[in-house]
Amino acid sequence: MTQAFQKVSAIRGMNDLLPGQSAQWERFEEIVRGWLRSYGYRNMRTPVLESTRLFARGIGEVTDIVEKEMYTFWDGAEGKQDQVTMRPEMTAGIVRATIEHNMLYDRPHRVYSIGPVFRRERPQRGRYRQFHQIDVEALGLAGPDVDAELIVMLARLWKMLGLTDIRLELNSLGQPAERAAHRTALIAHLEKHADILDEDGKRRLYSNPLRVLDTKNPAMQAMADSAPRLFDFLGEESRAHFDGLCQRLTDAGIEYRLNPRLVRGLDYYNLTVFEWVTDRLGAQGTVCGGGRYDGLIELLGGKPAPAVGFAIGMERLLDLWQQSVPAEAEAECDVYVVHQGEGAQRLAAKVGEQLRDAGFSVIVHAGATGFKAQFKRADGSGARVAVILGDDEVANDTASLKYLRGEAEGAASQQQVPLAQLAEVLKSKG
Ligand code: ATP
Ligand code: MG
Repeated sequence: MTQAFQKVSAIRGMNDLLPGQSAQWERFEEIVRGWLRSYGYRNMRTPVLESTRLFARGIGEVTDIVEKEMYTFWDGAEGKQDQVTMRPEMTAGIVRATIEHNMLYDRPHRVYSIGPVFRRERPQRGRYRQFHQIDVEALGLAGPDVDAELIVMLARLWKMLGLTDIRLELNSLGQPAERAAHRTALIAHLEKHADILDEDGKRRLYSNPLRVLDTKNPAMQAMADSAPRLFDFLGEESRAHFDGLCQRLTDAGIEYRLNPRLVRGLDYYNLTVFEWVTDRLGAQGTVCGGGRYDGLIELLGGKPAPAVGFAIGMERLLDLWQQSVPAEAEAECDVYVVHQGEGAQRLAAKVGEQLRDAGFSVIVHAGATGFKAQFKRADGSGARVAVILGDDEVANDTASLKYLRGEAEGAASQQQVPLAQLAEVLKSKG
């Protein structure tokens, strides 16, 4: 006797996208791909699984992601095992591939990738364990013109999607030497307030003091607000880069707010960092984050080259989009073929193929159900027209049409058409 199987559910924080929801994702992705093409960005895809070392080095050992959010396991035969990780973000993989394939040897690249990333966080609205990112990177380009282009580009996407309640926060993290000077001042400040640091804060005091300012702990806000600002430690060149960016944003009519506390969760940024934030998504209001990471390519073993990019959280952006644009029901097909009798059923399969040749999407009713139930299904499919095949139609090589919606609905109902002209008639009633 077989034992009853205990039902399996999806893993917490990992979502199913059912056909209706998925249709909206596809519509969204189509808009996004067109938008990226319009700026000359090209798609690239890297594996979901990478060596753990890549992320430890590329993201930084002392970050939330690497310290506690990665899905990591041992892979391979005993004795030859490698530690591997499900990618928690896409930049590290893209940079690895850029180096591995020597992509930057003769020219810069504008690339993007769309897909799932994985972080073991506490699931809640806008925070999942498998979520999706649109990741965009400009590799090998150093100027503030490129930083500005990325931000202008994002403003265009919000406009294309009809989003208005979304604002830009900017900061500059300067260069490593400026950060070092600021770090000394910051550590002194943190030491002075050591008594109010929480566990994370104490642990990061010397390993990653900048991240202590990124705290969400209310008890530490006042201390973080009064901390020395990295922005005040910027040298002339860093300031010029930042001013160059701001100038171009002003040229493009884009509003921004300087947020000196903005440091972002990843270690590798320098100069420009930015986030697009909304108040309409509750606590998880950051829809997109990005910045410059001129040191990362070298850090991961490549020839030094500048780079800048951003990642959009798709679940959050879609949530926001759905609030302003109601989802429309998607039709399963253009044409639904109903039939009665064995001969008609076989003819239906043939007619279906002919109509697909002519460019229609077609569902041929499956199984032998009564006409009434078939019409109900045809209507439910969202098809514009039902093609009807019965004994009569088989005998004289015709099909009957019934328009289910649109202008022609009802008017031409049950019109008989020679099979040879079917596609043409359907097109003319488009
Ligand atoms: P947060 O501060 O919200 O944790 P983050 O700084 O960790 O964000 P990034 O690493 O910059 O996020 O990722 C880019 C974008 O991906 C974020 O701006 C957000 O829109 C989205 N995102 C990040 N973590 C999650 C998650 N767990 N679930 C859904 N979306 C996420
Ligand atoms: Mg995070």
